[in-house]
Amino acid sequence: MTLRFEFRPYRAALREPLRTARGLRTERDGVLIRFTDENGATSLGEIAPLAEWGSETLDDAVAFCAALPAEFDAGQMRAIPDALPCCQFAFETALAALTRPAAPSPLRNLPIAALLPAGAAALKALEAAAARGYATFKWKIGVGPAAEEIGLLAHLFDRLPRGGRLRLDANGGLDLPSAELWLKACEGRPVEFLEQPFPVGREEAIIRLAHEYTTRLALDESVARPADLLRWLEFGWPGIYVIKPSLAGSPARLARRLLEYEAECVFSSALETAVGARAALLFAAAQVADERALGFGTVACFADEALNLHAPAPTIATKWLARLETGPLWDHCPNLLRTA
Ligand code: MG
Repeated sequence: MTLRFEFRPYRAALREPLRTARGLRTERDGVLIRFTDENGATSLGEIAPLAEWGSETLDDAVAFCAALPAEFDAGQMRAIPDALPCCQFAFETALAALTRPAAPSPLRNLPIAALLPAGAAALKALEAAAARGYATFKWKIGVGPAAEEIGLLAHLFDRLPRGGRLRLDANGGLDLPSAELWLKACEGRPVEFLEQPFPVGREEAIIRLAHEYTTRLALDESVARPADLLRWLEFGWPGIYVIKPSLAGSPARLARRLLEYEAECVFSSALETAVGARAALLFAAAQVADERALGFGTVACFADEALNLHAPAPTIATKWLARLETGPLWDHCPNLLRTA
């Protein structure tokens, strides 16, 4: 099958700067791709690289797209190098959207975790999100001094709704003593997991901690690159895998691996526009269903509303997602470059 291929880079400001242990992010750039078949049907895909997470850079992605002919043979899909995982995701999902137009399978209401800001601002944010019906709350930690943040933890627990749970995401910002302080503070409390306590490549202590404390541990940055994910799967990581589908390479290969290793997963966004977020959510919905909330608290992260998938809500229905028309974003894209 031969398709017409086009691409458009974008750059867009975030509504609120995102502060994590890795610093402050104020904008995101990426590339939209479009396939058109011989009948004029079109589909979009999104390349949303985060090079600091080990994906290709934006320049790599643009160079790859620029080198492709305008006529794309669907058979070339397999030839996209593993060094371009975000391109693999974008091309494969765009092709699937064209050849298997969205049947919402399975029909589910996907629970979404609310993202809380770092520091004391989390208290009010948790109250507001709980009032809107959220039950899972993700708090970025390792941003301020550990003692101060742990001091806030009890106040967050007090504000949790009945049955509510906290996820703590350190983005690699802890050392061993502070990780143990956090885990002690979490013992017996409604903490779903502590995510990525240590930086990539410095995870030695994490296996011991996973066995010594009752709070579950999760890996995110450590498993963001497909080769690293495979390494941890082979190793038999006893904790949870946080998977960002749009960084994880070929979705078909990812689905096979997660199933083969019976990985316990939480799926999460990588600050995509509606195009990538929709594809990532539909991928997540199609994997083995458990009731863990999806880490898509950033679906409305862009200042430009037209880019956002959804107003933040405690659930997203796969039926709605499947029907969602992202095509208009293609024509919106040049505006983004102008205003960036
Ligand atoms: Mg994370």
